Amino acid sequence: PIRVRYAPSPTGHLHIGGARTALFDYLLARKNGGQFIVRFEDTDQTRHVESGVQNQLDGLSWLGLNWDESVDVGGPYAPYRQMERLDLYRPFIDQLLQDKNAYPCYCSEQEIEQEREEQEARGETPQYSGKCRHLTDEQKAQLEVDGRKPSIRFHVPKDKIISFTDKVREGVEFETNGIGDFIIVRPDGIPTYNFGVVLDDHLMRISLVIRGEEHLTNTPRQIMLYEALKLPLPEFAHLSLILNPDRKKMSKRDESIIQFVQQYNELGYLPEAVVNFIALLGWSPVGEEEMFTLEELVEQFDLDRVSKSPAVFDMDKLNWMNNHYLKKAPLEQVAGLAIPHLQKAGLVAAEPTEDQLRWATELVGLYQEQLRYAAEIVDLSELFFREQLAFDEEASALLAEEHVPAVLQSFLKQVENAADLEPGNVQKLLKNVQAETGYKGKQLFMSIRVALTGQMHGRDLNMTIHLLGRDKVLARLSSLL
Ligand code: GLU
Repeated sequence: PIRVRYAPSPTGHLHIGGARTALFDYLLARKNGGQFIVRFEDTDQTRHVESGVQNQLDGLSWLGLNWDESVDVGGPYAPYRQMERLDLYRPFIDQLLQDKNAYPCYCSEQEIEQEREEQEARGETPQYSGKCRHLTDEQKAQLEVDGRKPSIRFHVPKDKIISFTDKVREGVEFETNGIGDFIIVRPDGIPTYNFGVVLDDHLMRISLVIRGEEHLTNTPRQIMLYEALKLPLPEFAHLSLILNPDRKKMSKRDESIIQFVQQYNELGYLPEAVVNFIALLGWSPVGEEEMFTLEELVEQFDLDRVSKSPAVFDMDKLNWMNNHYLKKAPLEQVAGLAIPHLQKAGLVAAEPTEDQLRWATELVGLYQEQLRYAAEIVDLSELFFREQLAFDEEASALLAEEHVPAVLQSFLKQVENAADLEPGNVQKLLKNVQAETGYKGKQLFMSIRVALTGQMHGRDLNMTIHLLGRDKVLARLSSLL
């Protein structure tokens, strides 16, 4: 059975690139009745963030990508955190040393740096010379006495070509001569990424390794380790880069796109929309259809249709897609996402009464069609909360038209005498204004809309008037008369 893993370093929140890897893992596992494993590669303690593990898991569960084995649910190959697995690595280190596929290296950082500078001065591509490979036992003993703690380096075989068939990139080849002996265990005894990943993928019986293209150059190193340890190779699939909308490599500081799953949650995106969008970052479905539920993705997804060219992250498309999902969602759900933003902005009480809650829900309903993400309600509905409206040139020009005072005056009187401002009743009041003033259509509706909202266009007028309520309507009308 297929076993796939998402193996983040817990350095922070779930990034959109990691989410894509995890999604593709998940889809293949579910499609083939396999297992999806979440393992944490936390051996780089300098980049470790304590909340990183939980943040990653929270992001995945928000997206609905349930895992079969990990730190929380356990599993047959626990533990799922590399720092808790150090003992498991020991026999493999010993085997590599014994077979002379690895050796202790006592070089200090300064020595390595010096070697690198010399190589560069000679016009060579810097690469560790392998000089510690030739140390005698006496020399090693002396270095130990001197208090040097060795790292362990893998002895890269020369003059070989490492080739493999990547499920996305097809044939890939690397010459080993371009790869220097690399460190597999640091002086503190903790394995580096390339070593830990091989051992865990092996020990956890991972059959297919899916990860970002930035790891492609690590793969020949890992394959050499598999070969030296006589371990069976998993399959590999390297996903293309994700470019920002300017087709530049996405940087984590880039603000033109929202990069972390948690931020989507906070802004009121729907996980279904985010999943749907991420699925299309590199994968293309068979037909024209672009909207897929997670279940449909499980059915349709295939690595054969994952492209090796970079995917462009189109924020507008994501917003369009999220709007599509928000429009279809039940109002209660959308209100549940949007109202907290109104509360945070101080526009709705923190503990609203039933009436206030109903009002806020109707307000969200008024904008549901238009919302790209729930937090947008604050900007969109701003006119409801203003003390004083601001009129731009176009609006002022409209209000200066000759017929306007009569229309507003008549409407003011209608509202003053109205039993209520339910939308159906508002409709009647507007009809009365038409009958009384003789103005209709744009002359009638636009005058009232602009007077009450400051805007030439907006949502349903009857509902807008209903939600503004009697006091605001009267105040805004009188201020113009
Ligand atoms: N810890 C690595 C990362 O976060 C995982 C790479 C891999 O999947 O092998 O990039």
